[in-house]
Amino acid sequence: MASIGFIGLGNMGGPMASNLVSAGHALRVFDLSQEAVQRLVDAGATACAGPGEAADGVDMVITMLPAGRHVRELYLGEGGLLDKVAKGTLLIDCSTIDADTARAVAAEAENTGCPMIDAPVSGGVAGAEAGKLVFMVGGETGPVEQARPVLDVMGRAVFHAGPAGAGQVAKMCNNMLLAISMIGTSEAINLGVAEGLDPKALSDIMQQASGGNWVLNVYNPYPGVMDGTPASRGYTGGFGTALMLKDLGLAMDAALKDGKATPLGSTARNIYALHAAAGNGGKDFSSVIEFLQHGGGSSSQ
Ligand code: NAD
Repeated sequence: MASIGFIGLGNMGGPMASNLVSAGHALRVFDLSQEAVQRLVDAGATACAGPGEAADGVDMVITMLPAGRHVRELYLGEGGLLDKVAKGTLLIDCSTIDADTARAVAAEAENTGCPMIDAPVSGGVAGAEAGKLVFMVGGETGPVEQARPVLDVMGRAVFHAGPAGAGQVAKMCNNMLLAISMIGTSEAINLGVAEGLDPKALSDIMQQASGGNWVLNVYNPYPGVMDGTPASRGYTGGFGTALMLKDLGLAMDAALKDGKATPLGSTARNIYALHAAAGNGGKDFSSVIEFLQHGGGSSSQ
């Protein structure tokens, strides 16, 4: 069993850390939220007063933070993690951030003698709770293989995408495709309903026909069509519109830098930006179906 420092115990990090404790690993945890820390202490983890204390004497450190600036600050900021952590400690960042920041932090970690991998996840809060996340990992083979048994506790699949930053690139591409397919699927269902079809009947048909996709299989955006989806509980408890907008921003920044045409990704970003600006940033991203129903009107009412 490993000794693990875990920093960032939010919607995703909380259940991920909890699964590691349940599997018998010794966890030293830190979060800015005392409430989040307390939940893990109740589950059997040791509370720490700061990131350095969480990293003290552990085999590896896992971070699960909101965005690139938090990751950069935590690792590279004054008195940051890289100043405190012992040489040889494996560093695993599971946050979804831009690949350039992931590469820069990994290079600095390497300079201080700590192998680092980026390991963003797919599967949402439900996947984190069930230990069924998909990890997309970037880094050298040695550290990736060292991390694998621990990642396996939190996930159902671990893909080694390539060198440092490659996990973030895979995640960014996947989420751009997901955003586009959520909008496309929503448009098709809305149109069918407007033409008098039952949304469930139409979804069942498209699921088996050539329009079938992941959204239709497990994340139908129309309320009442599928049990257990955010759509069937008022678009709560899933993957927030604001987080999807962040991920589309990462994809568009990369597309601009690389000179790649991503017209559908760009349109998806506009749609999610307008949807978030109408007060829906905290709702699950499948609520974009409401934006499309109201033609961009105030769907939060
Ligand atoms: P969250 O906001 O619920 O949790 C982030 C946690 O980090 C918070 O508890 C916050 O207090 C803590 N934090 C921030 N700065 C900190 C610091 N300096 N030191 C210690 N703790 C700090 O976010 P989340 O939903 O858990 O998402 C985390 C990451 O996972 C994001 O990058 C997100 O894009 C990604 N992600 C989320 C989902 C999802 O469905 N929510 C799915 C896949 C990936």
